[in-house]
Order: sequence, then structure tokens, then C-alpha cells
Amino acid sequence: MTLDFFLEHKAQFGFRDRGYLWLYADAALYARAIEKRRLQNEYGLGVEVLDSVEVRKRFPILDRSMHEILGATFSPRDGLVNPNAVRAWYRAEAEQLGVEFRNRHYIGGVETERMVGSAGSLRRVTAVQVIEVRRGSPDDESGAVREILVTHRVPSESALGEARIQCQAVVNCLGAWAPTFSAKVGVPDPTVPVRRQICLVDVHREDMADGVSLDNLGMIVDPSGLYFHPEGPYVLAGYSIPDEVPGFDFDYDGAAFFENQIWPRLAHRCSSFERCGHVRGWSGLYAVTPDRSGIAGGVAGFSNLFEAHSFTGRGVMQSYGVGRGMAGLIAAGAFDEVDLSPLTRARFEEAGRWVREELHI
Ligand SMILES: Cc1cc2nc3c(=O)[nH]c(=O)nc-3n(C[C@H](O)[C@H](O)[C@H](O)COP(=O)(O)OP(=O)(O)OC[C@H]3O[C@@H](n4cnc5c(N)ncnc54)[C@H](O)[C@@H]3O)c2cc1C
Repeated sequence: MTLDFFLEHKAQFGFRDRGYLWLYADAALYARAIEKRRLQNEYGLGVEVLDSVEVRKRFPILDRSMHEILGATFSPRDGLVNPNAVRAWYRAEAEQLGVEFRNRHYIGGVETERMVGSAGSLRRVTAVQVIEVRRGSPDDESGAVREILVTHRVPSESALGEARIQCQAVVNCLGAWAPTFSAKVGVPDPTVPVRRQICLVDVHREDMADGVSLDNLGMIVDPSGLYFHPEGPYVLAGYSIPDEVPGFDFDYDGAAFFENQIWPRLAHRCSSFERCGHVRGWSGLYAVTPDRSGIAGGVAGFSNLFEAHSFTGRGVMQSYGVGRGMAGLIAAGAFDEVDLSPLTRARFEEAGRWVREELHI
């Protein structure tokens, strides 16, 4: 469904359906990937299993330490999109349907009431309290925004005043910040914010004889935790540092991240990256759950509170399906076209219902 949607807007989203190649060096993970392929191909994804000889033949850029590689899966319909273009499209479509967006409004509080006469003791969200954050100079603005996002305090000089928005329905879709909202209504979230860093790699430096050609390649995921793909004239590479301490940490480690984490892994697998260089990079947050799957559905104990968050690094690719599923739930009172019920928070009460995902970056 999502791939069809991205294809439909191919030019607008910058969708490059050049495939995802996942390399495996761990027998158990490789077996798991092969097992999952059955389900993926029932949905027409055409995922291939390649042995290491086939990988080398089809992806000659991978020319180093290939004895470590047991094999790979290649999913040809997968690809890369411009996530900001996707977000802009959702927003423009919503505005056309009459949705009003209030930029720079921070949800500071929630008002609820107990529903009289209803079965059990359901609560209803009646209003959210919002604080409008003043738009200052670009420098002031980033300082204020950083303080809000990192410490959850709105600097008093930035608040223009408080307001209340009366609510028929409320959806907590605050990403890594979702637990801060859930806490306001007394609901514990298992989600933690974890920093993820990515950087642009210069692959056409003057001292690089032939550069690196990734033409027609999509995403490559290395067993070391490195992943990379072409991005304009550069290569975009990321690495998930294992056991990174959770926290609202937006610091980018700069050239040291490239030198210590990215370059050694690129050069270990591809000789053509031997002399590549660091351009720049940035960090953001993954909202990580214990089973590494998102949380979506109605919030138990409330009549009009919903949630869709904690997508653990896969929120862009899941956004269309989650949006369709949540729209059905809110409009019709039950999931219809897309059944997201395995992702409701109730699953955390029983380990057997967790939606564990081992194949992730
Ligand atoms: C480095 C990196 C690489 C990634 N790569 C991929 C990828 O390749 N593919 C993929 O699918 N996903 C990827 N992701 C994950 C993806 O970016 C997220 O899953 C997705 O952005 C989540 O979208 P969201 O709308 O749920 O949350 P967000 O995009 O985080 O939006 C939540 C919004 O809520 C706002 N907010 C928070 N608290 C409040 C409040 N109290 N009041 C008002 N507003 C508030 C925040 O400012 C934010 O704008 C990556 C993430 C990172 C960090």
C-alpha cells in the first residue's frame, strides 16, 4: 500500500525505487530474514535471497571482507524518499480538506472529565492547553526551541499567552516526546528517546581517482550496523551506536563520528571509499519501544484519546499505512481498511503479544 502510494507521487516525493540490500553475517538473523521473505512476497514485494557470490556479482562495489557475508536479501521495490516532501504533501492535502495547523504551539497541559453514566470509568479529554511560542530571530528561535524540546520547559519570555483548544478527539502523535503527553493523563509509556546520527560523505574528492559510483543503487545495510545510500552528489551514511544511552540528546559528534564510526566501516566493505571525506551531519531521535515496533490505537480508559507514535526509526515508511488505519479508527470507531490492533499499547502487558522486530537499523 505504502509503496504504491510513494510510486503514485514518485517525482514529488523524490522516490527512488532502487531497492534495499541487507547483508547478513549472523546465521540466526539471516535465517529470520529468509523466513520473513515468505510473508513479504505474499504482498508482492519480490524479495530475493542472494548468496555471497551473487551479491559480489551484482554489487561489485562490495569488494572487501566479503568472506564475512553469509548472504543477503534484496527487496527491489523498496527505495528512498524525501521525508520532508512526504510531510509537506500530507499537510497540503489536509489543509485542502479544511484542517487548520497552528505552528509553534506547545501543548502544555490537558483537561479531562470523567464521563457520567458510562460503563466503567471512562475519561474524556475536553481540552488541551497550548502555549504559543514567540518567533524570534533565527538564533533566539533555535535556543528557545531547543530548550522546549530538551527540557520541556517553555522559556517564560517566549510565551505569548495560554489558550485552550476544545477537543472532540485527541491524537498523541508527538514522536519521541509522546511520553511527556501520556504522563499528563497518567498513562505510562514504555518509549525512550535514543539519539541517531547520520552524515554526508564526500565521494568525489580530488584525491579520489575514480570516486565512488553508487548510480542506480538504493540502500545498503551492512551487518556492522552501518547503512548508506546515494544522496545527491554525496553518500548518506548512518550508524546506530549500540546501547546509546537514552535521552533528549541532539548533539552531533561531528568529524569524530565520521572518522570513528562511518569511514572504518565503509572502507572495510568497499575499497572505493578508502579516501572519502566528511561533509556534515546531524542527529535526531528514534522513539524506541521495548519490542522496536510503534504504538497505535485508542488509549484504554479514554473515550476520545488516540495515539500513533514511537515508530522506532521507521515512521516515514509506515506513515501512510498508520494514517489510513488511524483515520478508520477515529471516523468509524474500529479499524477497517488497515488493522493496527497488534500495535495497541495493551500488548506490553503480555510479552507474548509483543511485535518484536530484529531486522532494523
Ligand atoms: C537520523 C534518523 C534517520 C531516520 N531514518 C528513517 C528512515 O530511513 N526511514 C523511516 O521510515 N524513518 C526514519 N527515521 C524515523 C522517522 O524520522 C520518525 O519515525 C518519524 O519522523 C516519526 O514521525 P512522527 O510524526 O511520529 O514524530 P515526529 O516527526 O518526531 O513529530 C513529533 C512532533 O511533535 C512535536 N512536539 C513534541 N512535543 C510537543 C508538545 N508538547 N506540543 C506540541 N508539539 C510537540 C515535535 O516538535 C515534533 O515536531 C529516522 C530518524 C532519525 C532521527
